[in-house]
Amino acid sequence: MPQTFDLQSYPCSVCGSTSFTHKYTIKGFNIVQCNACSFVFVNPRIKTEELYKLYTTDYFNNTQFGYENYELNARLRIMTFEKWYSLIVPFVGRKKEKALDIGCAAGDFIDVLMRNGWKDVEGIELDTSMIEKLRKKNIPVSTTPIEKIEVKKKYDLITLFDVVEHLPGLSDALQKLHDILEEDGVIALITPDYSSTQRKLFGKRWFQYKPYEHIQYFTPDTLARALKPHGLKIIHHSASGQCADAEFLGSRLERYNFKALASLFNGVVNLFGLKNKAWYADTGSMFVVIKHDKKA
Ligand SMILES: [Zn+2]
Repeated sequence: MPQTFDLQSYPCSVCGSTSFTHKYTIKGFNIVQCNACSFVFVNPRIKTEELYKLYTTDYFNNTQFGYENYELNARLRIMTFEKWYSLIVPFVGRKKEKALDIGCAAGDFIDVLMRNGWKDVEGIELDTSMIEKLRKKNIPVSTTPIEKIEVKKKYDLITLFDVVEHLPGLSDALQKLHDILEEDGVIALITPDYSSTQRKLFGKRWFQYKPYEHIQYFTPDTLARALKPHGLKIIHHSASGQCADAEFLGSRLERYNFKALASLFNGVVNLFGLKNKAWYADTGSMFVVIKHDKKA
């Protein structure tokens, strides 16, 4: 039996407006667009307190929401994190000291940071089974949502990979990010881009629509607007993807109902022995680098 949830209506978390236009209904949830600032989000959505519960147990091993089996794609995930680290490198200074990975799951990106010489690396994770894994690996982890953590230190690098679209207390979270970022520190994030070609091409079939937990869909413009009151600004954004193998790409084609293309693709994969090859495939996401807005 799928779990049922209490839904609640919220104002736009970018501008506070309560005037929206309905765009789609997906899995029984309304996707709306703010009439004042054009931000796209799920409304009504799962109540904030219930949303937190969603992330604490079985989020990474679930068929209704979250990840069906996070462990299965470890090889591709680590390759993806190495690629994403290479995107961040040009924006960080020579100081590789304090880093925080928010939504760090099993700590694979923290491992990448440590392999690259970062000295003092911590994570934030809400899922109890992941927290256990992190503790076994001796990775310092906080189990408090970002907007509620106490400011004890500041970080040179803060990463949020596929996290910001989940955050129910967006404004409080962005203020906290500002407060824990070193003066010359960098925030790097990856999130679905509502203005991406992939979203425009697939419309309501875009795989990033996961209205239980992807409650907001940014563009570079709406994200910049959300950051501004908190003294933060975007210094770079570009399209981003993830490493994918033939099995992943084949299943994605099937999900988009390209059945003929999927079987052709599987045929090519078998013919050329590409089963273990990996590609960096576009996901309609954006890679964003954020710093303090010193003029603010
Ligand atoms: Zn708005």
